[in-house]
Amino acid sequence: MRQDSAGAYGAGVRRQVFEVVVRQALVGAPWQQICRGQMLANAISEDEIEQEVNRRKRPEESKSAAVSTEQSIQTARKDYSQFQAAVDAALDQIAHSQVSPCACTKCRSAVSVILKNTAVEVQKTLHPFANA
Ligand SMILES: [Zn+2]
Repeated sequence: MRQDSAGAYGAGVRRQVFEVVVRQALVGAPWQQICRGQMLANAISEDEIEQEVNRRKRPEESKSAAVSTEQSIQTARKDYSQFQAAVDAALDQIAHSQVSPCACTKCRSAVSVILKNTAVEVQKTLHPFANA
């Protein structure tokens, strides 16, 4: 039993034309224009082509590649934050020594404020019109 959508040249030709149009679409050709005549002759709709193109554009390999990149970034972030937490924990164990230089938590935060302010002053000196 033949369907109406088999088109003027039969199902075999229709299948071939369908395949050609899908490949044109996959390589970015203006298939709606260049394949219009063949699509009309074989009763192939733009929706059919677009569905097939979307189906083929999502191969499993590209999906898993994206996941593995995302996973490796997350792993690297986790490793780094664990390392940072370990360093912070070790530094927090240092007691205030009353002797300079001291690396206790309070002295370190005080020093970091001083360094930050110094950096701002140096920046202003080097670029006097930066904030003008
Ligand atoms: Zn201290």
